[in-house]
Amino acid sequence: MKFIGAHVSASGGLDQAIIRAHELEATALALFTKNQRQWKAAPLTDEIIENFRQACEKYGYSAGQILPHDSYLINLGHPVEEALQKSRDAFIDEMERCQQLGLSLLNFHPGSHLLQIDEDLCLARIAESINIALDSTQGVTAVIENTAGQGSNLGFKFEHLAAIIDGVEDKTRVGVCIDTCHAFAAGYDLRTVEECEKTFACFERIVGFNYLRGMHLNDAKSDFGSRVDRHNSLGLGNIGKTAFSYIMADERFDGIPLILETINPDIWKDEIA
Ligand SMILES: [Zn+2]
Ligand SMILES: [Zn+2]
Repeated sequence: MKFIGAHVSASGGLDQAIIRAHELEATALALFTKNQRQWKAAPLTDEIIENFRQACEKYGYSAGQILPHDSYLINLGHPVEEALQKSRDAFIDEMERCQQLGLSLLNFHPGSHLLQIDEDLCLARIAESINIALDSTQGVTAVIENTAGQGSNLGFKFEHLAAIIDGVEDKTRVGVCIDTCHAFAAGYDLRTVEECEKTFACFERIVGFNYLRGMHLNDAKSDFGSRVDRHNSLGLGNIGKTAFSYIMADERFDGIPLILETINPDIWKDEIA
C-alpha cells in the first residue's frame, strides 16, 4: 500500500497539519514541529501533544505515515565546534519533540562542510551527530535526505548516505529519504523507465532499499545534474510524469510516507490522487 501526502503547514497548531492532510485526502504527511527558521521553540505542552495525538487517531494517521522535517538551520557536519554543538543540541530537541508526539521518523538534510573541512571528515561528523542524538532519545529514526548538492551541502551522492549510515552505531534507527528533484539535480536520471531502473538499482547497490524510510516526490525546475534545488509540480518540470508513475507502480516504495514538496499547494489534492 502507498502512503501519499504533502508537506503541510502546521500554522494554528500541530493538530491543524493533520486536519489539512485529511482535507487533501492524503494517506501521509510531513510537517515541521517548530518554526523551521528559528533555533528555539517553546517546549511542547501536554495540551499540544494531546491534541496532536487525538487528531492522528481521529483521522487515521499512524507514526509510519508521518515524516516530520527538522529546521533548515541545523548543520550536523558543521566544521566549527561551537556551531556544531548548537546544531547537535537543536537536533536532539527536534528528536525529543517527535518522541513526545509519538512520531517515529525525523527527516533532515545531512550537513555542509562550508569549504572548511573535507568531505570525509564532514560525513564522519554527521554520523557522530546522529549517534549522539540516538543515544539521548528513544524510538525515533534519523532519516537522512539526499540533497541536490547545492553549495557545500553533502548527501548528493548515494555514497555519502552510505558513508553516514556506516558511521552510525544503531543501524535500526537510521534511514534515508530520497527526494526525486534532489536526485535528478545531483545527476541521477529519472526521465525514462530505463533511467529509473538504473538510478534505483544504483541506490539498492550503494545504500539499499532496507534503509528507505520515505520519499519526497518533486518534479524539478532545475536542470539535470545542475546541483540546483528548485522543485516543480509533478509532470511540469524536467523530470516529467514517468518517474512518478514508475514509483507508484513499484512495491519497493510501499508502506513509507511519499511526500509532495511541490510548489503549488492548490493542486496537491489532484497530485495526491
Ligand atoms: Zn525534500
Ligand atoms: Zn529541495
